[in-house]
Parts: sequence; C-alpha cells; structure tokens
Amino acid sequence: MPIYLDHHSTTPCDPRVVDAMAPYWTREFGNAASRTHAFGWRAEEAVEAAREEVARLIGADPREIVFTSGATESNNLALLGVARANRERGDHIISCQTEHRSVLDPLAALEQEGFRVTRLAVDAEGLVDVDDLRAALDGRTILVSVMHVNNEIGVVQPLPEIARVTREHGALFHTDAAQSVGKLRVDVDRLGVDLLSLTAHKLYGPKGMGALYVRRRRPVLRVAPILYGGGHERGMRSGTLPVALCVGLGRACQIAGQEWETDAKRVLLLRDRLWQRLSTELDEVWLNGHPENRVAGNLNLSFIGVEAQALLVALPEVALSSGSACTSAQPQPSHVIRALGRGGARALGAVRFGIGRANTEAEIDAVAELLVEQVERLRAMSPLWHEPARAPSRS
Ligand SMILES: *Cc1c(COP(=O)(O)O)cnc(C)c1O
Repeated sequence: MPIYLDHHSTTPCDPRVVDAMAPYWTREFGNAASRTHAFGWRAEEAVEAAREEVARLIGADPREIVFTSGATESNNLALLGVARANRERGDHIISCQTEHRSVLDPLAALEQEGFRVTRLAVDAEGLVDVDDLRAALDGRTILVSVMHVNNEIGVVQPLPEIARVTREHGALFHTDAAQSVGKLRVDVDRLGVDLLSLTAHKLYGPKGMGALYVRRRRPVLRVAPILYGGGHERGMRSGTLPVALCVGLGRACQIAGQEWETDAKRVLLLRDRLWQRLSTELDEVWLNGHPENRVAGNLNLSFIGVEAQALLVALPEVALSSGSACTSAQPQPSHVIRALGRGGARALGAVRFGIGRANTEAEIDAVAELLVEQVERLRAMSPLWHEPARAPSRS
C-alpha cells in the first residue's frame, strides 16, 4: 500500500465512526421527518444527538447547526444565501484570493447577479492584512468571508481580528473551516464568526456530509435557501436527512473533541521530523506559507529545479498533491501559490504534504528517504538546476 500523505484532500473514515453509522443503513432506516411512528422518532433522536456533538465541538447551540452535503454546499449556502437574503441592505462582499474554489465560484456567480466582490490579496506568507480589510469595507458591505485554515499551504488566518473589524462595520462574517475543525480549537464565539462551514470527510468522517453553523442571536442574519422543498433544517436546507451520515459526522466530532489535541501534537512532531530531514539533506527547499501560523499536519514545500508534477510521478509509493494543476499542456501553479507572489520555479515546484492521525514515524522516514533520492535524481537531469555553489547569484 502506498503511504498516504494527502489528508487535506480527504481522510479515512475512523472505524469508530463506521461502527456508529452501521445500524442506520439497515435496521434503523427511518426518516427523521416522520413524526407518526417509532422508526421516525428513533431516526430523529439519532440526528439530534449528532447535531449536539457538532455544536459542542465548535461551541455552538444545536439549533445553530444546518446539516448539508459537505463544505462545498455549506459555502454555497452561506454566500448565496446571505447575499440574496440581504440584498436591500447591501450589494458588496469581501473575501480573499486564496479561498477554496467552493467559495470563489459562488462569488463569481454572485457578480453575475450584480453583487460587487472584493478579493483581498495575501502577503508572501499567505495571510490577509486586516488593514486591507478595513480599507475595503464600504457602506454597502454585507458579508466578509475568509477561510480559517488554507487547504494548500495550511496557514491560519487571523479570524478574531478580521471578525472584530467586520462586526464594528456591521457586516456578517463567514469562514470556511473545512481544514481546521478537528485540528485546532474552533470556537465560534472566540473566533467571532456568524457562519462557519465544515465537512465530515476532512475529520475522519464520511464523504457527502457537512454542516453550516448559522448564528442565532443576530436578528439580521437571514439565509435564503438554495434548495427548496420540504422545509427541513428550519427552511434553510430541504431534503431528507441522511441519518447514517449525520450520525457519522456526530461521532467524528465527538472523537475530535476528545482527541484533537493529542493528535495535533503527534502530527506536529511528524511534520517537524519531515521538514528537518528534507531541509538538512537537500539544498534549495522552501516552505510556502507562514512558518508558525499554520496547522500541524501541513507542509507545502518547493523543491527548486524540480517540477512538482514530475516528482509526484516519480513517487508512486507516496500519496501527495502538487500545488499546480495540469489543466493545460503546461502545468499552471495553483491560484494559492500564485497569490503568494513567488516566482515560477518556486511555484511549479510546490508539493503539499498532509499528515494525519494514522501516519507513523517509520512512514515519515521512508518518505523523506524516497524524496531526497528522487529530488536529487530529477535535479541531476534538469537543465534548470545548477548546484547552488556554482550559481551563487540565483535568487
Ligand atoms: C475540502 C474542502 C472544501 C470542500 O469540502 P467538500 O465537503 O469536499 O465539499 C471546501 N473548503 C476547503 C478549505 C476544503 O479543504
């Protein structure tokens, strides 16, 4: 089996989560909206217990949790829903250039509907400047959306500061927390967010399940649905709830609440071990993203003189992602790496490591060894690479 270091893409379902879900595929098959019999009551009970677990993990009230199919849907619901429901209050939304596509694309759709969108730049380490936000807010700004942890470079945005400025201005604040829930302390009051997106499959839960937190004690917080139908989830998200998946998300949140700190410490040691080895055994390896304000499991590294795509092809034993997309003949650096303002070689060499709960020290050592070997081999073949000693002027 290859070694899995791609935990930002998805995580395996924890066996305890699978066990918790098991009865709800067969014996406990009721519809949680059936009010007239025990099958429905038991399904509803399971769904509500799961809702409590999700709420507990993020410091919310269960009545503030709307179940969705994942963070893509949660982000769409937050952005489209808040914009459309608050149109008479304003037409301006502020977000950030390094957001996930499931934020950037609904924002582009809102521009088609006549909304104005400001996409804040980030600094060379991937962080938003709160002064830029202050300058971008105007009298018609209804919503600010900035992600918590970036899915490529792992940086943690300064949400409490962003929230303070946003609230002073009277706008609502949404965050995409798909990469932070279960990995950092996520508390909606401490962070100061009004809406928060999360997804089960990034925290050892099932794919196709997520939630949107919607703050209750904000009388102006209205969210228009994007799916119309039976009026489930207080009218914000119609559709029969997938009871087993809800239970899986709940159990994943419960485990995360008990274990995230221990997990994060272990994962951090593994990450530092990998970085230590690669940075001492290889020249010209650069860390992308802020060195301290980053989530434990992430490393995003550029190996100068090596194209990330070529490196991944040379390492079939390791599951990794590159910071570039092969959508055309020429690999293009991702929008996140480009937003850091780094030059071509550094952008094309960006590789993302996502370390998770089950990775071991032996795996990290094996990956480090393979990488050093392959980077040296590819560099020896590359016309772009010259030994640093022979090319001291290269920046
Ligand atoms: C994975 C991810 C998403 C999308 O989540 P899905 O549940 O797969 O739709 C959105 N935002 C971020 C930051 C992610 O990492």
